[in-house]
Amino acid sequence: MKTNVLGYPRIGEKRELKKANEAFWAGEITQEELFAVAEKIRVHNWTLQKEAGIDLIPSNDFSFYDQVLDFSFSVNAIPERFAPVSGLTELEQYFAIARGYQKNGIDVTASEMTKWFDTNYHYIVPEFTKNQSFSLKTNKPLAEYLLAKKHGFETKPVLLGIITYLLLGKEKETGFHRLELAERLLPVYIQIIESLVAAGAKTIQIDEPYLVLDLPEKAAEAYQKVYGEIRAKFPNTEFILTTYFGALDNNTSLAVSLPFDVLHIDLVRATAQLDNVLKALPKEKKLSLGVVDGRNIWKNNYEHSLSVIQKAQEAIGNERLLIATSSSLLHTPCNLENENNEKVLTPEIKQWLAFAKQKVKELSHLKAIAIGHDLSAEVKAAFEENKKAAENRKTSPLIHDTKVKERVKGITDNDSKRNSEFATRQKVQEEALKLPLFPTTTIGSFPQTQEVRSWRANFKKGTLTEADYDKLLEKEIEESIRWQEQTGIDVLVHGEFERNDMVEYFGELLNGYTFSKFGWVQSYGSRCVKPPIIFGDVSRPEPMTVRWSKFAQSLTKLPVKGMLTGPVTILQWSFVRDDQPRWETCYQIALAIRDEVVDLEKAGIKVIQIDEPAIREGLPLRRNEWKNYFDWAIKAFRISASGVEDQTQIHTHMCYSEFNDMIEAIADMDADVITIECSRSQMELLDVFADFKYPNEIGPGVYDIHSPRVPSEEEIYHLMKKAIAVVPFRNLWVNPDCGLKTRHWEETKLALEAMVKTAQKLREEYKK
Ligand code: GLN
Ligand code: ZN
Repeated sequence: MKTNVLGYPRIGEKRELKKANEAFWAGEITQEELFAVAEKIRVHNWTLQKEAGIDLIPSNDFSFYDQVLDFSFSVNAIPERFAPVSGLTELEQYFAIARGYQKNGIDVTASEMTKWFDTNYHYIVPEFTKNQSFSLKTNKPLAEYLLAKKHGFETKPVLLGIITYLLLGKEKETGFHRLELAERLLPVYIQIIESLVAAGAKTIQIDEPYLVLDLPEKAAEAYQKVYGEIRAKFPNTEFILTTYFGALDNNTSLAVSLPFDVLHIDLVRATAQLDNVLKALPKEKKLSLGVVDGRNIWKNNYEHSLSVIQKAQEAIGNERLLIATSSSLLHTPCNLENENNEKVLTPEIKQWLAFAKQKVKELSHLKAIAIGHDLSAEVKAAFEENKKAAENRKTSPLIHDTKVKERVKGITDNDSKRNSEFATRQKVQEEALKLPLFPTTTIGSFPQTQEVRSWRANFKKGTLTEADYDKLLEKEIEESIRWQEQTGIDVLVHGEFERNDMVEYFGELLNGYTFSKFGWVQSYGSRCVKPPIIFGDVSRPEPMTVRWSKFAQSLTKLPVKGMLTGPVTILQWSFVRDDQPRWETCYQIALAIRDEVVDLEKAGIKVIQIDEPAIREGLPLRRNEWKNYFDWAIKAFRISASGVEDQTQIHTHMCYSEFNDMIEAIADMDADVITIECSRSQMELLDVFADFKYPNEIGPGVYDIHSPRVPSEEEIYHLMKKAIAVVPFRNLWVNPDCGLKTRHWEETKLALEAMVKTAQKLREEYKK
């Protein structure tokens, strides 16, 4: 029995790589200095895995930016449009592909990024052409393997699988399917493996997570073909086929039939697949059991994992088993030992957690206990401690709040329904709000200036009193309200100056939430996120936003929108407890938000926005699980929105995803108004809204807030005309495509002025 780590976080315990990358981009450090930081991180990671007793330690799991881009770069799959940067150093070329390059008369835009399966990690999308060629540009896997060797570590190189790599990419022209490129890519792939084998690599991990998805036609054939050829070339190398993030299900027979020596499966996300896989696995193959969660921060429950392992032991015996992380640990923070601020993370909660370093140790413990004879004192103690922590977590009063549980049990169908249907509400709201045609609004946040940030920081540090902090915020809100009035915006916002982040802000005010200090996880490139942790039943001890909304509303006769984050987005952007289903946690959050919505209404707020930008991200990887997800996710949103009277107008907002394939679910949310990102796709999105005849009001974003560029009135007019062509004009709003917090006031003012002028022009053209 061996222990097997699929990959380790590479950002560094204190985000050293992020800082070094950004310093390099700013020209503050040299390439050598950046390389030194990166080498130190890798050596640190390998050392701690070796010290923990890991048998299969990964190499080539490191990346300066992204492992998919690494692969494209290694095999020279670099889009034509990056030709202008080919004269730069390799590292600069690499970063130019990732981030774009505007210097020395060169202007190339960044590559497209998208989500890595259902994680919050984003990879650089490979771009393929019909005549795509591949060649070995840099042999990164070999360089990484040799670096480890130089430092005395024997490692298992990790390669992205050929089929998954191709499927992750996009065809940039018609007339071919990217899977057809497998044959052309294969020789380069073989070259890389050859070099690794020649350098001494005995075991190679090949990641094929696409095997847990619905595969396109011909994929199975392509799998057979490429891996058949690789096997034939390297009869003596041990190959591990890794799958993760879900169950193999209908791809089980394909996966077990591929000529690999070891199959890895994810038993955290898909525990139930074990029986099937054990039955299907040919006798000569080994099985790697992914029992330690690579996606979350909870301590492994040894007794539970051991019961899973035992089943496999009984079926195929120790010799054919590996104990592994469920996926790469890339999606977990580095090291719990750094969390030493007891005010942020209490010792009781801390004992329930494990970050990457702790998870690695868990693998060793599980192996030792599973094999069983002569347990060392250390392992015995660890097992006892693990049982105690699990027991404590199960019964802790910190976690369990019967009132909250009862309330969720008591949810009725009526709780997720408004009093009347939309058509009735629309009339009542028209009466109550008296908005003009093409009403204008913004998405919520206004520029978070250096100053605003410094107030928050000083208030947190204690160098600014609450009274002074509040005064500064009030002044900022008042200025923004006055400016919106003058500009002629119809539905105002207070500006969200008091918020650091749209999820963290609510997490800090809700029961059942805690935070880490260094719990960073890579999101893309040098960007990291620190998701708050939901450890217990969630409830709202007191109103969270009423104070600021009420204050803003008191300044003006125009409606000010209350501004909340929706339950699905709060869930999606947190580390979620694993001791109850996600839907249950989501319903708890939904009830807390519902209470806030009702309190806002009571405080005189007539329009309330509940943001759900992450609703699409929660979609399961397999189509046949979508319906179940929508059933609870959409319901959770509706629960949060349905506690109010007909005349209270509920908005929602969505962005950064393609919503084409979930338009019916969006309509099902039954928000009175949805504001949605549309400008980057030139309103293409609206075609589906038109085909489907989206019933409620809609504000398609009319300009891209990600760039400082100020849109012209003509542009906005043109986009609105496109919208008018497909949506009844009475149902249209005019707004930017997302919040404005990352912008400066200067361009924000100009852009919104142009937006309001355009709306005024449209009102003359179209009369009620
Ligand atoms: N109300 C939020 C804001 O304006 C919405 C942010 C988002 O959609 N990501 O900042
Ligand atoms: Zn947005």
